[in-house]
Amino acid sequence: MRILLVEDEPEMAQALRAALQRHGLLADIAPNLAQAQEALRHGVHDLLLLDRQLPDGDGASLIPQARKAQADLPVIMLTARGSLADRVGGLDLGADDYLVKPFAVEELLARIRAIQRRPSQLSLPSASVGNLRFDFAAHEAFVDDVALRLPRRQSLVLEALCLRHGRTVRREVLQESVYDFEDAIQSNALDAHVSKLRRALAEADARVDIHVIRGIGYLLRERADG
Ligand code: CA
Repeated sequence: MRILLVEDEPEMAQALRAALQRHGLLADIAPNLAQAQEALRHGVHDLLLLDRQLPDGDGASLIPQARKAQADLPVIMLTARGSLADRVGGLDLGADDYLVKPFAVEELLARIRAIQRRPSQLSLPSASVGNLRFDFAAHEAFVDDVALRLPRRQSLVLEALCLRHGRTVRREVLQESVYDFEDAIQSNALDAHVSKLRRALAEADARVDIHVIRGIGYLLRERADG
């Protein structure tokens, strides 16, 4: 899962980003409305974490634009404004949830999990391919119900492939699932993650194959011969 974090206080933004990453969530930081608008144009985010008091305006003004680009994009507002009128106003503007600063990261993670559990065609609870299952809320893979421990990037690759299993996933889509805006992307790094992931899946006896579709991308499928 990739999050757009719109927050103008650098320390707060970096601390949140680090905390989210420790929990397997990728976060891009936008410090103002203008950069957030630009980031939303990429259409690669699964959740918007939105501060209200930004240097160039009210963060809430971003919600209509975000929804126009992606109708079911979940939005959690993060703000120092804690009055009842502000909270209700934020929800009326279309936010799915509201957290008043200061908040514990654990609470934010719980709210994110709650949003992911909501039914939506884009937020399936899990996907099963052969004896492999990926739990999208826990960001964990299981082979025959045994948890598969994977390094973060491999887990993100597998998550992206499981979300679209049976379909070819373009390289660019996989890159965007694995690297945020601050990462320097090396073109062969993705292939290295995929081959390590293949080895890990084979060692765990997962009955799946990751096929290379030359010049296009990758395809995750149940192994035909069992
Ligand atoms: Ca602020």
